[in-house]
Amino acid sequence: MEFPKFAYFGGKIVPYSEAKVGVLTHALNYGTAAFGGMRAYWNAEQEELNIFRPIDHYRRFLSSSRLLMMEFDQTPEELTQVTIELLHAEGYRRNIYIRPLAFKADESIGVKLHDLRDELSIVAVPFERYVTNDTNAHVTFSSWRRVDDNMIPARGKISGSYANSAFVKSDAVLAGFDEALVLNQDGHVSEGSAMNIFMLRDGVVVTPPITDNILEGITRRSVMELISKELGLTLVERPIDRTEVYLCDEFFMTGTAAQITAVTRVDYRPIGTGVMGPIATQLRRIFEDIVYGRHPKYRHWNTPVYARVADKAL
Ligand code: PMP
Repeated sequence: MEFPKFAYFGGKIVPYSEAKVGVLTHALNYGTAAFGGMRAYWNAEQEELNIFRPIDHYRRFLSSSRLLMMEFDQTPEELTQVTIELLHAEGYRRNIYIRPLAFKADESIGVKLHDLRDELSIVAVPFERYVTNDTNAHVTFSSWRRVDDNMIPARGKISGSYANSAFVKSDAVLAGFDEALVLNQDGHVSEGSAMNIFMLRDGVVVTPPITDNILEGITRRSVMELISKELGLTLVERPIDRTEVYLCDEFFMTGTAAQITAVTRVDYRPIGTGVMGPIATQLRRIFEDIVYGRHPKYRHWNTPVYARVADKAL
C-alpha cells in the first residue's frame, strides 16, 4: 500500500510521518477506538473527486465514538470540510479510501472508557476493488459468531470488535472462499466480515434489521432506497435463517469497500442459477453511476472535492 503524504492529526493537517502514537496508547492495547471508512471516486471526465455521503459517514462515526464515551467538538459538516482539505492537499486524481479514527490516546495501563484523552485522525489512501470476485463470490458460513449488542455493539465501528471480523475473514479466505457470512447469537444471518447482506426470495428483497447485530451500513441504506425507488421492488427488513440463503434466488453484499458484491455460491451450493442475477446487475450499474457523480437524481450523495475548494477560494 502507498503511504499518504498527509494526515489530519492533533487538530491540523500534518505530514503523515508526524501522525504517530506510542506503543502504550490505550486504543492500541485495548481496542478502544472507533473508525469510519468512506470512498471518494475520481470522475476523469468531470475532473472531479466525489466523496460518497461523507456527512452520513461522519454522523455514524461520531455515534460510534459516543458509544465509547468520546465526544468531539467537530460536526459532520466540519469533518467533511477537513476531509476535502486533506484530499486537496494530497491532490488525488484517482479512487480513494478515507479512514477517520477516534481513539483513546492516553499512554497508560488500565481498562476503562472514562477519564481518558480522545484524539481524532483522518487519512486517505488510493483504493480500488476489495473483493476480487465481486460478480461471482463464493462465501461460507463462518464457525465464528457475530459480537452481540451486549458484548461490543456491532452497530458501531468499534476497533476492538474487528478482531471478530478478522477471525471470520481469515478462516474463510485461508479455506479458499472469498468471504464469510456470520450468524448472530440467535442463529440468524447478520452480515459478512465487513459488509451488509441482501437476499432475493420469491420476488421480495430481504435484509436483516438493525437489531440483528449488524453495522448500520451507509451502502445498505443507499441500496435499500435504490431497491424501492429505482427498481420498484418490495424491501423487507426481517431476520434471515441460514437455510434461506441456500434456497434464495439472488444474494449480494454491500459495503464501502465491497460496494455491491454478487454472491453466486454459498458453501458449495449455487445461488439461483449460479451466476450474478438481474437485481445485483442493475444495482451495480446504478450504484456505479451514482458514486462517480453521473446520476443527476442522486447528486446530493456526492460531495465534490475540487469544486468545493474552488468555491471557497472565490
Ligand atoms: N458491516 C461491517 C461489519 C462493516 O465493517 C462494514 C464496512 N463499513 C459494513 C457492514 C458496510 O458498511 P458501509 O456500507 O457503511 O461501509
